Amino acid sequence: MDIRLDIYSPVQELSDSLFEDKGVRVFIKRDDMIHPVISGNKWRKLKYVLQQARIEGKTHLVTFGGAFSNHLLATAAAAAKFGFKCTGIVRGEDVQNDTLFMCRLHGMQLIFTDRDSYGDKQALFSKYFGDNAEAFFIDEGGASALAAKGCSELVAELTDNYTDIFCACGTGTTAAGIINGIAENGLPAHFQAVPVFKNGGFIRDEIDRYLLLPATYSLHAKYHFGGYAKTTPELTSFIQTFISSTGIIIDPVYTGKMLYAIYQLIKEDRFAAGSKILAIHTGGIWGLLGMKDKFY
Ligand SMILES: *Cc1c(COP(=O)(O)O)cnc(C)c1O
Repeated sequence: MDIRLDIYSPVQELSDSLFEDKGVRVFIKRDDMIHPVISGNKWRKLKYVLQQARIEGKTHLVTFGGAFSNHLLATAAAAAKFGFKCTGIVRGEDVQNDTLFMCRLHGMQLIFTDRDSYGDKQALFSKYFGDNAEAFFIDEGGASALAAKGCSELVAELTDNYTDIFCACGTGTTAAGIINGIAENGLPAHFQAVPVFKNGGFIRDEIDRYLLLPATYSLHAKYHFGGYAKTTPELTSFIQTFISSTGIIIDPVYTGKMLYAIYQLIKEDRFAAGSKILAIHTGGIWGLLGMKDKFY
């Protein structure tokens, strides 16, 4: 079976009296609609990687992640869809949660490993799959040049021009891909990254690793809300208001932080009147399941 999905990712305009007051327009590219589980940037990151596995005749995907990893779940669902066996090596002790339930449901075998040995992924791969010629290594979070290439394709789908394009960053691979896509397509848009980690400034090196040409872009490192997968009542209340007024699900780990940053920067008059801002919805809505107890 060919490794491809028909991409359905419309751009929709968001409405809010704040945007009218400030004279800006805000749009969202619905990469979350690409697939219910292999959603958003995780599909774009996996596409060429899975094609490479197929070219090499590999039939068993082996990847890595934390117990709430969107990448693990997307890989599990993609393996099921495209006929691969699949193993997820999970950081930390044996636990049960909604994400891992979904991974198992898609046929992923799980191996739990302590945090020390998790540090050396190649060693773990050799330990469990060293003599398995079918096995194909995919790094944690799917970071690779092929992943960045998959993400850059998002830009060619845009039929309109925007002054600013925003995206949430974990490893920075998606951001790098989009920046490459902006350059390849000769768009005027200024890219703005919202790292979801504390001390997100380090992400510049990660993004720059996968850039095809040097580029200028902005980094908004203060919207981490305490760190990766951390949240505050202010963020959950923003998310609840956003979902209930748009019908678009966002999550506290990634897209909620990016959209909060956009609203805040608009309030602070950081955009000229007439700006057209595009937010990339990178998917990951199942991540909400790990954060239910943070709401209400
Ligand atoms: C994984 C993920 C990201 C981060 O992507 P990177 O390429 O690692 O920066 C952003 N948004 C969502 C919803 C994700 O699941």
